[in-house]
Amino acid sequence: MQKLTGRCLCEAIEYQITGELGPIFNCHCSKCRRWHGAAFRTRATIRSSQFQWLKGEEYLSRYHSSENTVKNFCSICGSSLISTYDESPDKIGIPLGGLDQRPNNTVEGHFFVGSKSPWFEIDDDLPQYDDYPGSHDKVRETAE
Ligand SMILES: [Zn+2]
Ligand SMILES: [Zn+2]
Repeated sequence: MQKLTGRCLCEAIEYQITGELGPIFNCHCSKCRRWHGAAFRTRATIRSSQFQWLKGEEYLSRYHSSENTVKNFCSICGSSLISTYDESPDKIGIPLGGLDQRPNNTVEGHFFVGSKSPWFEIDDDLPQYDDYPGSHDKVRETAE
């Protein structure tokens, strides 16, 4: 079974993921861009039971970015770690930037392209969605 590890910038916090990641997407929403200080956030959803803190859990800080979503980050170095959801405690959102290894699956597409950064051009052929994938009528044929 796949085992992945990850850590924050200062390495005070380490975590482990067991099993397959859910579909991987680049999220271009303004919250992800701000949280990561980047053009987009590459992320996947996993089950909470797949995730384990290995060390440093006491250094976590939490911020409610919306009513249901909590961003968990390192209080020492500020690294973005995981998203947890008040209404779905069985799920965790994981950004791939902190991983030490290559997961078995690869990026499937771009979502929230409707709010992507104006200075960033998507130049791959992956599918693009205006918001969350699943609304098939909103698939875009070309990049904005
Ligand atoms: Zn840290
Ligand atoms: Zn996002």
